[in-house]
Amino acid sequence: MALRSAEQYIESLRDGRTVYYRGEQVKDVTTHPDIRVAIEHAAGDYQLAEDPRYKDLMTYQDPETGEISSRYFKIPRNAEDLLKRHEMILTGTRAGHGVVPIIKEIGTDAIFALYIIAKKMDDQLGSHYFERVQKYHQYCRQNDLSMATAQTDVKGDRGLRPSEQEHPDYYVRIVDETKDGIIVRGAKVHTTSAVAVNEILVIPTRALGEGDKNYAVAFAIPANTKGLKMIVSPFGSVPPSDFHHPVSTHHRLMESLTIFDDVFVPWERVFMKGEWQFAGPLATTFVQFHRFTAISYKPPLCELFVGAAELMAEANGVKKASHIREKITQLISYTETVRALTRASAYECRVVDPGIAVPDTIITNIAKYYFASHYHQAVSWLQDIAGGLLVTGPSEEDWLNPETRPYIQKYLGGAKEISTENRLKLFNLIRDLTASDFGGYHEVLAIHAEGSLEAQKITIYREYDTKPCIEFVKRVAQIRD
Ligand SMILES: Cc1cc2nc3c(=O)[nH]c(=O)nc-3n(C[C@H](O)[C@H](O)[C@H](O)COP(=O)(O)OP(=O)(O)OC[C@H]3O[C@@H](n4cnc5c(N)ncnc54)[C@H](O)[C@@H]3O)c2cc1C
Repeated sequence: MALRSAEQYIESLRDGRTVYYRGEQVKDVTTHPDIRVAIEHAAGDYQLAEDPRYKDLMTYQDPETGEISSRYFKIPRNAEDLLKRHEMILTGTRAGHGVVPIIKEIGTDAIFALYIIAKKMDDQLGSHYFERVQKYHQYCRQNDLSMATAQTDVKGDRGLRPSEQEHPDYYVRIVDETKDGIIVRGAKVHTTSAVAVNEILVIPTRALGEGDKNYAVAFAIPANTKGLKMIVSPFGSVPPSDFHHPVSTHHRLMESLTIFDDVFVPWERVFMKGEWQFAGPLATTFVQFHRFTAISYKPPLCELFVGAAELMAEANGVKKASHIREKITQLISYTETVRALTRASAYECRVVDPGIAVPDTIITNIAKYYFASHYHQAVSWLQDIAGGLLVTGPSEEDWLNPETRPYIQKYLGGAKEISTENRLKLFNLIRDLTASDFGGYHEVLAIHAEGSLEAQKITIYREYDTKPCIEFVKRVAQIRD
């Protein structure tokens, strides 16, 4: 069996990695009061693989070795594999109360992209990357490792290419080469779960020109590699009360500024070195898988919005009001449009060399764009139904104080079918999801994670074949060339 337990996963993070959080170096990430929450959330993925109810979904039998492994490592060969992957991500996110675990999703997205681009490089340039990717994939699968992908560079002036920047380290680059490997320098930013994984995969963030050759680099390193430093972000941070914050006290993601301070990477872990023509294709191929992961983990949060809107409307006695029904209907349509597009992108996949199924690029990007561009609107529908107590309600301490509780009990009741306590719990959930530090984090995540809005629009326009539409117009309008 190539599976680890949740405990083995957590234990493996005690590896001497260099992590900074709120001005201090963290000796042991597994016992740190804030970081521990992100790790225990992520460990849910390992628990699901052990759970008899989910193990068929969360695991598969590796065709080469016969070993039972985490399904995240299964290379998608057809629509069915992609639908299973979608279902697995959905299940992990529901178990995380709307927060995706993301300790294998994004790493395997990168591995699938590396397979496709390594094959192209080997075919066209005579390199030997494919075998390295294959060995690395098997190593991660057999050891059931967790992985983060660091793609987004810090980028400096967005209007300049990497080699034109004020200093040369705004994009991760190769600074030296030895007989055993390469030395890299630079920093990636927003790296989700870097602090909670065993391996960091690094790929380029954009297309490059010949002058940017040294920035065309892809590799993987263990999280405790010498010279690798993580400055972990506290935003969306863990609040003290799970009464007020029923989700974010137990489930959260953590991003880091991931610094490569002259890090040595041995050859067997180098997957691109200077092949600048392939940097753009690697970046976009990764994104094709990664946006499918994105839209796969969005529906559980939307489901929470729908359920909370229904219960809150009931608690406030406004369920029959036409404008409330209209808003709940909009929330349902929002949720189901994202879900339907995700499934459609799996059904419409195309299988590319070397036999890997890629979700339909246009549908995937439309789904991601639709989710992101309507998220704030969805939040406003839910907040409108809930009312202002989302941010003006009494505290847990006042609820627990025998002197003040009777007043709260008496005056903050709503429709008699729902108790005051349950009404307060609904406010707490909706506040946590939409009007807290964590809620703000989700709003920014919706807009920027997996690429900002414009990135999806650019892809949709670039990939869509408008010629048949143009020909159609010419026929109907009787335009002859
Ligand atoms: C919660 C969260 C988790 C994330 N997780 C990861 C992760 O695990 N790994 C990872 O690699 N990345 C991750 N990201 C990064 C994410 O992909 C980026 O935030 C996104 O691509 C935007 O990049 P940026 O934040 O640098 O913003 P910018 O690129 O600075 O974008 C800001 C604005 O400038 C515009 N812009 C930027 N460049 C140009 C240009 N040249 N011309 C015209 N307009 C331009 C953008 O369209 C946008 O409107 C995460 C982000 C978030 C918010």
